[in-house]
Amino acid sequence: MKTRKLFFFIALVTVFLQGCATEYNLATKKQETLLYGTEKEVKIGETIAPKIEAQYDILTDVDVNERLQRILDRIVAVCDRKDLVYFIKAIDEDLINAVSLPGGYVYVFRGLIERVDNDDQLAGVIAHEVGHITAKHGIKRMQNAYAALALQIVSTQTNARVASGVNLAINSLFLEYSQKDEFEADRLSVKYLKKAGYDPKAMVAFLKKLKAEGEKDPLKKYSYWRTHPYISQRISVVNQEITGKLEFKDYLNLIGND
Ligand SMILES: [Zn+2]
Repeated sequence: MKTRKLFFFIALVTVFLQGCATEYNLATKKQETLLYGTEKEVKIGETIAPKIEAQYDILTDVDVNERLQRILDRIVAVCDRKDLVYFIKAIDEDLINAVSLPGGYVYVFRGLIERVDNDDQLAGVIAHEVGHITAKHGIKRMQNAYAALALQIVSTQTNARVASGVNLAINSLFLEYSQKDEFEADRLSVKYLKKAGYDPKAMVAFLKKLKAEGEKDPLKKYSYWRTHPYISQRISVVNQEITGKLEFKDYLNLIGND
């Protein structure tokens, strides 16, 4: 019995070590050891994306899709991560949110698209999601919280097990990111917006609008201010990144808790 346990332990460690990949991440500017390399990350995205698209109605409006694709293309052209093919789709639901999946998938909800004033604001939201993908926040979160389940998704296990992994992965989409990840995605988005020729200040304007909406209806599930929290502090981080200096009111915002 003891030998069996030891065998399983060794097998597990072997699987873990074989899967690990250490590489320099251009977005985070750090050497990172990840359980899932790009190939596995893409496979996870490829497996989960169709489930999401089966669960939600995808908007078929050609003009909206062209607008999203045009903005995404400009952001991706200047982003730090070129080892992926990026996809963008609109979900036909009156929800103010945008989410991304490991492997290059971005989803923007119709409710958010209807509330932006211009392409620059929409580009701010899309660049933030691309920032989560280039910094690999989704895949890192998944490997920390659902390592075993994510492994099931990429393995050839039985359908029931794969399904439970996929469901958890979908749920993890709607979990909030950490403050560190949010700030990092914002800093990256300002960099990408500037390079792509969009006005990063539009992002501040849209964050302020989101903040006001969130205060009206703070309990709304699956909304932007729940999955991408710390909006006040994020406004300060974005301001700081745009101007390169920390204003006193932004400093107060960063040390505050709202
Ligand atoms: Zn975010």
